[in-house]
Amino acid sequence: MIDVLVIGGGNAALCAALMAREAGASVLLLEAAPRAWRGGNSQHTRNLRCMHDGPQDVLLEAYPEEEFWQDLLKVTGGQTNEKLARLVIRASSSCRGWMRRHGVHFQPSLSGALHTARTNAFFMGGGKALVNAYFRSAENLGVQIRYDTPVADIELQDGRFVAAHVPAREVRGRPLPAERIEARTCVLAAGGFESNRQWLREAWGQNERGEWPSDNFLIRGTRFNDGVLLRRMIEQGADTIGDPTQAHMVAIDARAPLYDGGICTRIDCVSLGVVVNRDGQRFYDEGEDFWPKRYAIWGRLVAHQPGQVGFSIIDQKALGRFMPPVFPGATADSLEALAGLLGLPVQAFLETVHAYNRACQVGTFDHTRLDDCHTVGLEPVKSHWARPIDTPPYYGYPLRPGVTFTYLGLRTDETAAVHFDKRPSPNLFVAGEMMAGNVLGKGYTAGVGMSIGTAFGRIAGTSAAAAAGYEHPEKENRHDCATA
Ligand SMILES: Cc1cc2nc3c(=O)[nH]c(=O)nc-3n(C[C@H](O)[C@H](O)[C@H](O)COP(=O)(O)OP(=O)(O)OC[C@H]3O[C@@H](n4cnc5c(N)ncnc54)[C@H](O)[C@@H]3O)c2cc1C
Repeated sequence: MIDVLVIGGGNAALCAALMAREAGASVLLLEAAPRAWRGGNSQHTRNLRCMHDGPQDVLLEAYPEEEFWQDLLKVTGGQTNEKLARLVIRASSSCRGWMRRHGVHFQPSLSGALHTARTNAFFMGGGKALVNAYFRSAENLGVQIRYDTPVADIELQDGRFVAAHVPAREVRGRPLPAERIEARTCVLAAGGFESNRQWLREAWGQNERGEWPSDNFLIRGTRFNDGVLLRRMIEQGADTIGDPTQAHMVAIDARAPLYDGGICTRIDCVSLGVVVNRDGQRFYDEGEDFWPKRYAIWGRLVAHQPGQVGFSIIDQKALGRFMPPVFPGATADSLEALAGLLGLPVQAFLETVHAYNRACQVGTFDHTRLDDCHTVGLEPVKSHWARPIDTPPYYGYPLRPGVTFTYLGLRTDETAAVHFDKRPSPNLFVAGEMMAGNVLGKGYTAGVGMSIGTAFGRIAGTSAAAAAGYEHPEKENRHDCATA
């Protein structure tokens, strides 16, 4: 019988598989996606947030534990488990050596990449290169990997993992029979439920305008994170954490594909201009804080607007100050013409922009700090980087909510055990998006998804191997789990 069964093929699953294998356990990894689409949302990532007390290879200055913790506390509004959060933070300071040993390379932050040169270590080649490196290393170490293998159910006995069930299916025209796969221990790392449109509909419901908002959401990442296992675990009494409507949601280009649009569909010029809804009205302070601390609230803000659509408007002065998105914006030499191109009510749009322009106070524009360019007498206010939109050409990008990942997950502890009735399972563990809600009840700070997945993936793999009778050889890794 296999010692450790890992379900999922993203960062958390791969970290778990590698750790369990390093400990000496036999490991089988089941990935729902075909090989070409392996790697889940992790294939779309660029970086992870790292604590460090001084400059370190690709990271500038220092980002101490306390600052990381305060950032997390702020964005979650306190909806975080401090013990588990600090465990993630501390693990983020020491995991890169291990990542390098498995083939991950780092590079300095790109300019324009959300001001993250101090806090985030960027993967050379992005998340795709990271998952490819991990898969390669896992294969070399003897981890068995099966693609096109979506697990539909988990068989349990008194909170103990017994077997995973894979339904009969057809893979590229070849019928495959149903399977029951037993293992001594199991790690669940199958992502959130962001690609399950029916579940999103249930969670978001119908709004006062009779709309089903989630029908207009786009999914930034993989189509394979449909939450089937999360739902089965909840139905079987696993303890949960988080609110099903909470998710990392970014405003992305409305022309992005339904799935897997990835990073290049994000619209990063919001803080440099104004955002209006389909009625031509502004609805939120575009300059509230630095973009890395605010980008993840804009998906939700747009989700609450009529038709779940918004329009990011800038003028020529903003060019070169943000990472250009993949689709070019609508461009016009007058605001009237821009409104026409975007299908906005011309009069209402002009009134909004003119009122905004009049309210902008002359200051010293500086996009690298919270500058003094703000509006006066305008509702909603624009707190920073407020400069009149008056220099053609004008640009407009249509926005839709882009779901990155959902936060409803399984409650866990410092060993990554799944809990039933507050009691930890002896052989079932969880990592990544499936438990991220323990650390991230709401909000987001760039790069913490991979910090959580790396820390808990490694812990889950170590715990699963230990439950099967194998101790990880590196003291440091046993220490990660034992002192968490
Ligand atoms: C566009 C985009 C950019 C992002 N950028 C960053 C970033 O730069 N930094 C950062 O920290 N975070 C980023 N994130 C968030 C990050 O991707 C996640 O936090 C992280 O990848 C989660 O890892 P995971 O292993 O839990 O899930 P995933 O990587 O999504 O892996 C889940 C895996 O489970 C598989 N699976 C699902 N259901 C089943 C099933 N029933 N049976 C078998 N397998 C199943 C999937 O196919 C997939 O392989 C980004 C996300 C997106 C979408």
